[in-house]
Amino acid sequence: MPVISARLDRISPSQTIAMTQKARELRLAGRDILSLSAGEPDFATPAHICEAAVQAIRDGDTHYTDVAGTKQLREAAAARLNADYSLDYTPDEIIISTGGKQVIYNVFVATLNAGDEVVIPSPAWVSYPDIVALADGTPVIIPTSEHEGFKLTPDALRAALTPRTKWLVLNSPCNPTGAAYTGAELNALAEVLADFPHVWVLTDDIYAKLVYDGFEARTIVQVAPQLRSRTVTMNGLSKAYAMTGWRIGYAAAPAGLIKALTKLQGQSTSNACSIAQAAGVAALTGSHDFLQPMLAEYKARRDLVLSELAKIPDISCATPQGAFYVFPAIKNFLGKRTPQGRVLSSDEDFVAALLEEKGVATVQGRAFLHPGYFRISYAADRAVLQQACARIIAFCAELG
Ligand code: PLP
Repeated sequence: MPVISARLDRISPSQTIAMTQKARELRLAGRDILSLSAGEPDFATPAHICEAAVQAIRDGDTHYTDVAGTKQLREAAAARLNADYSLDYTPDEIIISTGGKQVIYNVFVATLNAGDEVVIPSPAWVSYPDIVALADGTPVIIPTSEHEGFKLTPDALRAALTPRTKWLVLNSPCNPTGAAYTGAELNALAEVLADFPHVWVLTDDIYAKLVYDGFEARTIVQVAPQLRSRTVTMNGLSKAYAMTGWRIGYAAAPAGLIKALTKLQGQSTSNACSIAQAAGVAALTGSHDFLQPMLAEYKARRDLVLSELAKIPDISCATPQGAFYVFPAIKNFLGKRTPQGRVLSSDEDFVAALLEEKGVATVQGRAFLHPGYFRISYAADRAVLQQACARIIAFCAELG
C-alpha cells in the first residue's frame, strides 16, 4: 500500500516556488541569474512593526492565543476594514490565520463537499484550484481575455454558475496580471450573483494596497452590501506590509462561518504566531507612511518594465492597475527557435530557455492556468529590472 494518499495526487507542487528554486540552484552553481520569479516584496518590514514584535517577546507574549487570533488583532483587522472600505465587522466575524493561504485553505476545507464547484477566473494564482481539489471540490476555470483587461465579465460569470457552484473566487488586484476591478465592475458581478443566492464569494484582496495611477481598490461587500452574508473578505500582511515571513492573514465573514474556520484551524495549526500577531496589530493600526514611497517605487519599476517590453514588437502587455507583476503575451514566439537550438513550443519552453540562455527567471503562464503568457515580478530593484529587460529584449530578438 503506498504511503502517500491518493488525495495528494490531485495537486502539484507550486510552479512559482519551483522556478525560484531552480534560479537559486543555478546561482549557487555560479551562473549570473536575475530572479524575477518570486511573488515577494523586496522591501524590509517597516521598523515600527519589527519593534512591536521585539516588544512582544520582552513582554512574554510568547504563548498560545485564542485559535481565531488575539482580540487586539481581530479588532485591528476590523478597524482596518472599516477605515479602508467602511465595512462593519465585529471581532467574532474575523479570523486570523497563518497567512492568507491558510485562510483560503480553511475556507475550502471547511465548506466543500465532493463535487461542489468553485468558479475561478484565469489567469489565477494556482493555489486556488489546488486547494479546491484537495478539499474534494471541482475547480471550474473561466478564462478571461487580455482585451477585456483579464477581468471576469458578468456574462461569463452567469454562464459559469450552476446549481453545484458553491464559491466564486475574486482576486483584485490579481496575481499574475495586476488587473483590478472597479466598483462598477464589481457591482455588475454582484447583480449576476443576485440571481444565484446559493453562491458564496471569496475575495482575495491581499494586493489591495498596492495600486497605482490613482486607482481605488474596492471590495465586493463595499459596493454590494447585500452580499455580506455570503462573502469571505480575505486580506493579509504579506504583500503591502512586506511581511511574507511573518505569516499573518485574516478574513471577515459571517460569524457562523468564522466559527467553522476556527474549529478547523483548532485541529491544524491553532493560532497564528503570537509574536507575529502583536506585530500585526502595529502594522494594521500604526502609521502607513511607509506605503507612499513604496508605491512610488513599485510604480516606477512597473513603468520601466512596460516601457522596455514595448520595445519588443511581438510582445503585448496590458498595463496593470496593481500588485507587482506584469503578464506579457508571448504567443507570437511559439514555434520559434533559440540560437542554441531550443524550439519554443509552449510558454514553459519560453521561460526555461530564457533562464538557461539569458539567466532571467520568470514564471510561465500555464502556472497561472493561462498558457501563452509569462509573469515578470517587478519586486526587484530597478538596476536588476533594467538588466533583465535588456536580456529579455535580446532573447526575443535572437529567436528565429
Ligand atoms: N493570494 C494571492 C493572490 C497571492 O499571490 C498570495 C501569495 O503569493 C497569497 C494569497 C498568500 O499570501 P500569504 O499566505 O503569504 O498571506
